Amino acid sequence: MKYVGAHVSAAGGVENAPLNAAKIGAKAFALFTKNQRQWKAKPLSEKSITDFKTNLEQVGIAPEQVLPHDSYLINLGHPEPEPLEKSRNAFLDEMQRCEQLGLPLLNFHPGAHLGKCSEEQSLAIVADSINRTLAQTEGVTAVIENTAGQGTNLGYRFEHLAAIIDGVEDKSRVGVCLDTCHTFTAGYDLRTAEVCEATFAEFDRLVGFNYLRGMHLNDSKPDLGSRVDRHHSIGKGKIGLECFRYIMNDPRFDDIPLVLETIDETLWPEEIRLLYDMVEE
Ligand SMILES: [Zn+2]
Ligand SMILES: [Zn+2]
Repeated sequence: MKYVGAHVSAAGGVENAPLNAAKIGAKAFALFTKNQRQWKAKPLSEKSITDFKTNLEQVGIAPEQVLPHDSYLINLGHPEPEPLEKSRNAFLDEMQRCEQLGLPLLNFHPGAHLGKCSEEQSLAIVADSINRTLAQTEGVTAVIENTAGQGTNLGYRFEHLAAIIDGVEDKSRVGVCLDTCHTFTAGYDLRTAEVCEATFAEFDRLVGFNYLRGMHLNDSKPDLGSRVDRHHSIGKGKIGLECFRYIMNDPRFDDIPLVLETIDETLWPEEIRLLYDMVEE
């Protein structure tokens, strides 16, 4: 079964996110559980938590199909102690919010070495950050997203994801989210079913589909291998429709949240329908 949705707004409170998802015909969704551009946030109120759970149940979306995304400010691979500490504290807070909401996944970008240490060193710092956070929480899996590799960002090679997982002690609580735009601009071709086959075989060999906990379905404005992160609407960018048809008909992408982060949210209901229409009987 495929669960397609989008990264919906939680304006006015997290409890609104399930309602916003239902409005666009989503069977899965992503959200920020706090303002993604600020370090500090008020704790979730008891009412917000209860209403979130009630609304989620009411719209018929399982907690496993919700893929919360952490703040963009967090860098779990930061090479300097003080900002690293700040990031780890913020990440712990994000994890605890998921715990409170009864959500088993937290999606995050691995981090950046900032030119101050090697990629390998920074990847080891990310793994250490995950270990520390998992030790202080229960029931939430840390879901590493692959990146386009802009600037000094880690996570643009499948090897990076594998290296982080390798350093995580509790393998049952670490997973990955593949973003199609990031995969493509990082240099893995997705434009035909044939190259999708090769790219995902490479992913399976280096990381393993058993770690796949979610997907971000985005077309791409920039070219293959450009290392630039700019999403486009499905079928309007450089990837094209065939990749999404491939994903929608491959059982390896069953039962996980497939989340649109495409640029024109007015198209989301249409894009969700388009994706479901691709499923061949
Ligand atoms: Zn993404
Ligand atoms: Zn992106």
